[in-house]
Amino acid sequence: MKKNFDTKTVHLSNKDTKNVDSKVTPIYQTSAFKFNDLEDLENFYQGKKDYLYTRVGNPNTDELGQAVAQLEGAHAGVATSSGTSAILAGVLATVKSGEHIVASIDIYGGTYQLLANELTDFNIEVSFVDFSNTDEIENAIKPNTKLIYSESVTNPLLRVEDIDQVVTIAKKHQLYSMIDNTFATPYICVPYEQGVDLVVHSATKYLGGHSDVTSGVLVGNEALIQKAKVKVTNFGTNLSPFDAWLTCRGIKTLSVRMERHVKNAQALADALRSHPGVAKVYYPAYVSEKGNGAIVSVDITGLCDVKTFFKSLSWVKIIPTLAGVETTVSYPLTTSHRALPKEAQDKLGITEGLVRISVGIEDATDIIEAFVNAINESLQ
Ligand SMILES: *Cc1c(COP(=O)(O)O)cnc(C)c1O
Repeated sequence: MKKNFDTKTVHLSNKDTKNVDSKVTPIYQTSAFKFNDLEDLENFYQGKKDYLYTRVGNPNTDELGQAVAQLEGAHAGVATSSGTSAILAGVLATVKSGEHIVASIDIYGGTYQLLANELTDFNIEVSFVDFSNTDEIENAIKPNTKLIYSESVTNPLLRVEDIDQVVTIAKKHQLYSMIDNTFATPYICVPYEQGVDLVVHSATKYLGGHSDVTSGVLVGNEALIQKAKVKVTNFGTNLSPFDAWLTCRGIKTLSVRMERHVKNAQALADALRSHPGVAKVYYPAYVSEKGNGAIVSVDITGLCDVKTFFKSLSWVKIIPTLAGVETTVSYPLTTSHRALPKEAQDKLGITEGLVRISVGIEDATDIIEAFVNAINESLQ
């Protein structure tokens, strides 16, 4: 049928990818998928066609969910708009109104806000306890507890979770377990293989790796991920196709990036441990044979002037995130842990001189020099 101009501008030729064979998955930047006739449409509901509407599913978000599931040794995965919404999807897949969660007290600040301030509105109760003490975990479990939540390596003090212990307690009390594996990444630690039910990532961090995308992924068994997908669809917390594509691109270099990140972090932690301007270095002694991660926190309270320290960091910038290829610093007291009650900050060690360093992939000598200089200049 001949089209007039206004119709032509709208109906561009659709370059479907069927015979293109591109090396990399194309970006399916589309909000919906087309159907040739009503039978074709029915095929979607019969499970014979994969895609209907991007909020429900999209090839790029599926590629990301499946990629992380494979890296974590899990059966299925779902990509979401952020790490936070991946955590929410995991919670909503396992816990209902009137039920209870036992969570570690030293979790990511944003997760604390979600669990402590938002879920209460849905009548989901959370007890925060010290997971380094098994008795505290067991004592917090109630008849309506459904989920145990923690992180494989915590932020910003790098406590390494005893995942076997979390799994043992969860199985004993027939609870779900969920672990945030953002800091360790599956390069270093694979909680699903230790029996954890759900593993969650802020893919904004190491999986994406280049600080250009906000995304999240939740992995687990088919049944739980299917439940989580329904929540993602109905709460509208799906990831955009382009952001899924960027995250997938990042994952391709995860191993080489992590190898360098980890090597540099170990070198920086070793160098700062012996420096008289540093009261304490937080860096795990052992996470796995692949290394101990790439976040190093230092406490300079009482030894250095904190403001001068941050001003003296030359090329290292203050950026309240982590896991990019560049070395950056953040200040937990006024950013990630700002919302925590003062007693909790004190208990955890979120002090006035605590600095979290996200060690990048630059030359290790340059990184060490930048920090040693800043400490020397701010020594008091
Ligand atoms: C950043 C982060 C989150 C939150 O992820 P967003 O992508 O910012 O929503 C959750 N957990 C940890 C450990 C994080 O570092």
